[in-house]
Amino acid sequence: MLNSLMAKLIPFFPEKLVWIFSKRYIAGIDVNDALAASRDLNNQGAMVTLDLLGEFISTMDEAKKNTQDYLDLMDALHGSGINGNLSVKPTMFGLLLDKEACFSHVREIVQRAAGYNSFIRIDMEDASCTSMEIEIFRRLKVEFPGHVGLVLQAYLKRTPEDITGLMDLHTPEAPLNFRLCKGIYVEPATIAFKQYDQINRAYVENLEFMFKNKIHAAVATHDALLVEKAFELIEQYKVPKALVEFQMLFGVTPKLRQTIIDRGFPMRVYVPFGKEWFGYSTRRLKENPAMVQHIIKALFMR
Ligand code: FAD
Repeated sequence: MLNSLMAKLIPFFPEKLVWIFSKRYIAGIDVNDALAASRDLNNQGAMVTLDLLGEFISTMDEAKKNTQDYLDLMDALHGSGINGNLSVKPTMFGLLLDKEACFSHVREIVQRAAGYNSFIRIDMEDASCTSMEIEIFRRLKVEFPGHVGLVLQAYLKRTPEDITGLMDLHTPEAPLNFRLCKGIYVEPATIAFKQYDQINRAYVENLEFMFKNKIHAAVATHDALLVEKAFELIEQYKVPKALVEFQMLFGVTPKLRQTIIDRGFPMRVYVPFGKEWFGYSTRRLKENPAMVQHIIKALFMR
C-alpha cells in the first residue's frame, strides 16, 4: 500500500530527494568519480564493472555520442591500471531505433576492449530487447570469443532455452560467460516468474546448468540464500575459481560482499555513474516499486 502510493509519487520527487536515495548506489557524475570508487573497491579486494548511465535514447546522434563516451571510458579504464571491465546497455546505442547500427556501435566498443585484452558485458534489458540482445551477443562472441559476455535473467521462463541455444558457441578455450541475475524489470506472468520462491528455484536451476557445463558464471545477487546455494553448487561440481565470480551492485550489501571476498572468491562490483543518474534512478524506482522500501531506508539511515 505504502509502496504503491510512493511509486505513483516518484515522477514528482525533487532531484534532491532522489539523490538522497541514489548517492548510495551511484559512484558519481564523471569518469574520475567512477575511477576513484573503483580504486577503492580494488583496494577492498573487489574487481569492478563500470556502467556509464543512459538508456532508451531517441536519436541515433545520441547513440554515436554514447559510443564515443564508452570508447573514451575504455581508454581511461585501461590507462588507470584498475582491475575492471565495462557493462553496456544496447538501448543506449540505438537498439530500438536501428538494430544494425546498434550492433556496429557495440562491436566497436568490444573491438576496443579486445585490443586491451579486456571484456564487455552486455546487460539484459526488458523483454522487448531479449532476443535482439542475445543475437548481438552471438555475433560478437563469434568474432571476439574471449572478450564478450551476456546477462541472463532467472525470472524469464525462456532463459534455460536461451542458454542451451547458445551452447554451440561454448568451447574450453573460450567458455560462454554469463552473468545470472534475477531480473529487474516488471514483466507479465505469461513470460516471467513472479514469486520469490519460483524465481530463486529458476535461478538455482540455471546456475546448476552453467556449473555442470563449465560455463563461466557470474553469480549476481545480494540474496544471502542464493549466495549460500551457489557455494554448495561450487563445492558439488568442483567449479574452479577461473570459472566463477560473484557480482553485486555498488552500495548494496557491502557486508555480504566482504564475507565472499574473505572466503577467497572473486567478487566484482557493478559501478554505475554519469550525469544521467536522475533518469536512471527514477526509472528503476518506477519499474520496481519494491525499491521504494530502499528509499525509505535510505531516508532514515543516512
Ligand atoms: P533480492 O531478493 O531482490 O534481494 C535480496 C536482498 O538484497 C534484499 O532483501 C536486500 O536486503 C538486498 N538488496 C537487493 N537490492 C538492494 C538495493 N538496491 N538496496 C539495498 N539492498 C538491496 N537486472 C537486469 O534485469 N539486467 C541486468 O543486466 C542486471 N545486471 C545486474 C548486475 C549486477 C552485478 C547485479 C548484482 C544485479 C543486476 N541486475 C540486473 C539486477 C537484478 O536483476 C536484481 O534486480 C537485483 O540484483 C536484486 O535482486 P537480488 O538477487 O539481489 O535479490
